[in-house]
Amino acid sequence: MTRHRHARARRRAQRATDPYRLWYKRTHWKALRAQRLADEPLCRMCMAQGKIVGATVVDHVRPHKGCWELFSDYENTQALCKHHHDSTKQGNEARGYSVEVGPDGIPLDVNHPARAAGGV
Ligand SMILES: [Zn+2]
Repeated sequence: MTRHRHARARRRAQRATDPYRLWYKRTHWKALRAQRLADEPLCRMCMAQGKIVGATVVDHVRPHKGCWELFSDYENTQALCKHHHDSTKQGNEARGYSVEVGPDGIPLDVNHPARAAGGV
């Protein structure tokens, strides 16, 4: 229990010192983020589900993992609501596919096992 908590604290400390975290403070990112939200004011994932929700988070489509080219590429960004950014997106990266479904109940992600199996 105690050991578990220490490991978590260490991971948190590690994340806080990742050099790319400073990139979010750069003028380049601030301008890119403002441009994306101006171009795409609604959450892309909510739109795919037929919902109109304002986007507040600019997310990287392909995780940049500390790669400046991916981080700073405008075409690699998308506008999401906080809910989708925090829950869906981070889960997707762990799973490798999205569990979001469209209004018809069909998974939106072509990498979803149900689609990969050729069912839909
Ligand atoms: Zn959303």
